[in-house]
Amino acid sequence: MLCRDCHHKLEVRRSCWRIRLRCTSCQREYQIHEVASDLDPETEKQLENYTTLIYD
Ligand SMILES: [Zn+2]
Repeated sequence: MLCRDCHHKLEVRRSCWRIRLRCTSCQREYQIHEVASDLDPETEKQLENYTTLIYD
């Protein structure tokens, strides 16, 4: 999953009970629902580790 701004890799980050995808380059954060239509299998698999958490 790549950043829409700079096309660097996004990493899954947990902060408290929230999940965000954060760019490893420009630090832009995405909410899950913002990128839900573009999630790739690798990112979805990472998110499965957080299914007990709320995607706000
Ligand atoms: Zn970026």
